[in-house]
Amino acid sequence: MSSPLDTMYKEIVLEHSKDPRCFGPLEDADVTQKAFNPLCGDRIELRVKLDPARERIVATRFEGQGCSICMASSSIMAEESEGESVRAMNEQIERFRQVMQGKEDPSVLDGDAEALAGVRAFPVRIKCALLAWMAMKDALKAAGAEGAGDDDRAGFVTQTE
Ligand code: ZN
Repeated sequence: MSSPLDTMYKEIVLEHSKDPRCFGPLEDADVTQKAFNPLCGDRIELRVKLDPARERIVATRFEGQGCSICMASSSIMAEESEGESVRAMNEQIERFRQVMQGKEDPSVLDGDAEALAGVRAFPVRIKCALLAWMAMKDALKAAGAEGAGDDDRAGFVTQTE
């Protein structure tokens, strides 16, 4: 059933869920975004700091509790976002959503995000994987950063502070 590639992907996801990157508080954040996935109970708080021009993500931290897919996806998203331009991050978020919805091939994704494509085999878990990415999208929009996307949150509850 499982190919060596599947196994490698599972290891990447497992490793991120056990030891999440960018987990913890961020005192001087520009925006705090709370996100909740009612389907699974995943609940995260995402904090983002932008450069003065609000064009680049300086730091990202998240806290909260979720299933291993949610935690791994939050870790991967947060790690990728740091140092990224807002525009490029929004594009990556949109690509990630397209992949999760089966509209794009996982190879369009950068870095460890590609490993999350295996979640597509479990439709009820797709929202677990999408949660942090949608939270980042809403956070960037709330912060007034350039390049915010559309408003389709696909059943997520996200709230800006
Ligand atoms: Zn979940």
